[in-house]
Amino acid sequence: MTQPVRVRFAPSPTGKLHIGGARTAIYNWAFARSNGGTFILRIDDTDPTRSTDENTQIILRAMRWLGLDWDEGPEVGGDFGPYAQTERLDLYREAAERLLAEGKAYPCFCTPEQLEADREAARARKDPFQGYQRRCRNIPADEARARMEAGEPYTIRIKVPEDRGDVVVDDAVHGRVTFAAKELDDFVIFRSDGTPTYNFATVVDDAAMGITHVIRGDDHLSNTPRQVIVYEALGAPVPVFAHISMILGADGKKLSKRHGATSVEEYRDAGYLSDAFVNYLALLGWSLDGETTVIPRDVLAREFSLERISKNPATFDPKKLDWMNAEYINRMDDATFADTIMLPELHKAELIDEGAEFDEAWVDALAAIVKPRTKMPADAAIVSAPIFATADTLVYDEKAVAKGLAKEGMGTVLDAARAALEALPEDGWTAEAIDAALEPLPEALDLKKRIVFQAVRVAVCGNLVSPPLGETMELIGRDDCLARIARAREMAL
Ligand code: GLU
Repeated sequence: MTQPVRVRFAPSPTGKLHIGGARTAIYNWAFARSNGGTFILRIDDTDPTRSTDENTQIILRAMRWLGLDWDEGPEVGGDFGPYAQTERLDLYREAAERLLAEGKAYPCFCTPEQLEADREAARARKDPFQGYQRRCRNIPADEARARMEAGEPYTIRIKVPEDRGDVVVDDAVHGRVTFAAKELDDFVIFRSDGTPTYNFATVVDDAAMGITHVIRGDDHLSNTPRQVIVYEALGAPVPVFAHISMILGADGKKLSKRHGATSVEEYRDAGYLSDAFVNYLALLGWSLDGETTVIPRDVLAREFSLERISKNPATFDPKKLDWMNAEYINRMDDATFADTIMLPELHKAELIDEGAEFDEAWVDALAAIVKPRTKMPADAAIVSAPIFATADTLVYDEKAVAKGLAKEGMGTVLDAARAALEALPEDGWTAEAIDAALEPLPEALDLKKRIVFQAVRVAVCGNLVSPPLGETMELIGRDDCLARIARAREMAL
């Protein structure tokens, strides 16, 4: 039986959750879900100068909005906690002590000046290896202990075994990557201020938490050989690594603020749907079958696999994200659209009062014409605004009036439309009846259909882009439509 999958997303709370981090989180979450595994959230807050609680809260909120529920971590707990690195400092110290006692690590008393002088000397003699010259590696253990106890400042370095050949990493995305062990310093695992380095703390945690797969950005690929050395020193199994490619902007450069919004919250606040956003980010470097684009969360959680991650960098395309968002809105059923998008947006735009009651059929009819015209949630209010106006408050778009209304002959069109519509009784005011009443006008007036309907549309809606006329007029109601036409008559020639 294979080991149950345990993966982690380990953001550093030095900033908000960004698109790249969100994608890493999505892949970890989806990998855990598709394997019946455990998804762990760990806060890597060991950089005290740049980590803040506020950022941690922002990250947790963003994760919740993304719908990436974690099985262990902050707020939910778990058997392998605590889940913030600053609360695990004792564990790192204990691990380092153990490696010191086992002779797998050693204290280094070199001052920064000494290290710099050694580097300079290596440069001068054109030594291909210009890293740490292992000056303190062979200090006898009792002497080292005495100096430590006497209070001399020291870092702790790992002892890369003399006979360690190349470090070979079979990365699930990049394939086999070989690093020459002799290029690896006896690197620092504990600083002289008593704090662990990233490569050490991460491995101590990943080992203690039983992480089986490390899925993260490929900016960490170069850290991996050092981490492998730490696993080996700790006597812990080395997990599978999957380093995912960078996300680029349209100009081929690494995605950054220059390309526009980068934090998850900005997308949430702009009105993107979490499901659409997750779907879009999942496709930045992964595909289901090379062609399917709409991959709902449950499918992602079932079908995600490391094999289908691409090693090529992905390009973030805001237009494709917009398309995805519109697609998710369009695929909603009308009732869900009305409840989760349309009514809240109408309220936000102050077109309706909080908790206002509407006839259910009326709301359904409105949703049916507004939904196909909603790409971003705020569009729902823009599209609906004319419907919620009255003959007195309707705002006429100047260009629409110039194009559709303020033209010779349009007065006659409106007079004819008004007469035809007035003939409809209040209880016969339906989209079909309205369309049928207007239908004969072009022929009767000897005008193009487009010209006639455009004039009526501008008169009733104030613009040229409203939803289908009959449906819209039914929703507005008979009396107000007639009053609008009367008002518009003054603008027509
Ligand atoms: N805290 C690290 C980061 O945010 C985590 C790296 C890792 O996953 O090992 O980049």
